[in-house]
Amino acid sequence: MRALVVRSPHDVALETLAEPITGDDEVLVAPLLAGMCGTDLELIDASIDPAYVHYPLTLGHEWVGQVLDDVPGVASHGDRVVVEGVIPCGDCDECLIGATNRCTIYDEIGFTRAGAIAERIVVPRRLVHRIDESANVDDAVLIEPMAVVWRALTRFSLRDNLNVAVVGDGTVALLAAHLVRRFRPARVVVVGRRAAQASLARAAGADEFVTDPPQGRFDLVIEAAGTGPSASSALALAGRGATVILLGLPAHGTIIDLAPDDLVNNDIVIQGSFAYTSQSFTEVVEQVNLGNLAPSFLITHRYSLERANDAIGALRGDVADDEPRGKVVITLT
Ligand SMILES: [Zn+2]
Ligand SMILES: [Zn+2]
Repeated sequence: MRALVVRSPHDVALETLAEPITGDDEVLVAPLLAGMCGTDLELIDASIDPAYVHYPLTLGHEWVGQVLDDVPGVASHGDRVVVEGVIPCGDCDECLIGATNRCTIYDEIGFTRAGAIAERIVVPRRLVHRIDESANVDDAVLIEPMAVVWRALTRFSLRDNLNVAVVGDGTVALLAAHLVRRFRPARVVVVGRRAAQASLARAAGADEFVTDPPQGRFDLVIEAAGTGPSASSALALAGRGATVILLGLPAHGTIIDLAPDDLVNNDIVIQGSFAYTSQSFTEVVEQVNLGNLAPSFLITHRYSLERANDAIGALRGDVADDEPRGKVVITLT
């Protein structure tokens, strides 16, 4: 079968691999559609913390597929499914308190084990979720990044009527603007870099899209650009009592300046958020199946597996200045 493989850092290619073989408690899935994101570039470039990756690696951690085995009580052969990518052991102290994203044995599809930009993938049966007939594959492919955002937004309870700033204009930022609307904010401002992203930000639910730092301070700042300067910008937008959620993943080793007295005087909470818990993934699947979350408007670039290099180019910024760039996806069948 064909798969998009990072053999070693900077060496990514479409390869022919042996068919994967299912072991105990595993099922075979044929991916239908897979999203790519900035994290895939970090995996290609090896700028991610080496503790979180294993090469050679088949890419693909955002995806929807068609299950080729029965999953008793969940899905039948041929059903469309999504699969939790973070694989919890179920036994460690973190798993036992529901913090499956912090399982002491880190294992994740598309990071430490083969991902879904491939014609077939083997996954643990217990992590499979069925997608209803009524749900759209284009919405389902965004479940994984939505789960990342949803976990960050639901980790601590958010009050209504917040003034929200989202720093970044990539898919995670746009999904953050979209999902934070469910907490009835007073206002959502997306602080982006590319003016061409304005239409997507508005479609996502932003009240304003700006490319210069906005005036005033915010109650909730969500950093979703994943660079040192964007993290600094996010902290600078925090008002007294604000929460700053760090969702973006800067390159390993990034360091920024902080003024600790400002954090104390302004009573600031800084919250990192890693991946998603089993519960947050399940909640997002339920909402997609109910038709309450339909983010497919964010898909702007679609490529066949043969054109995966063009998808990588689009992610790296190889798009016209005035062209909106949302989610980049690869069609597998
Ligand atoms: Zn991703
Ligand atoms: Zn565990």
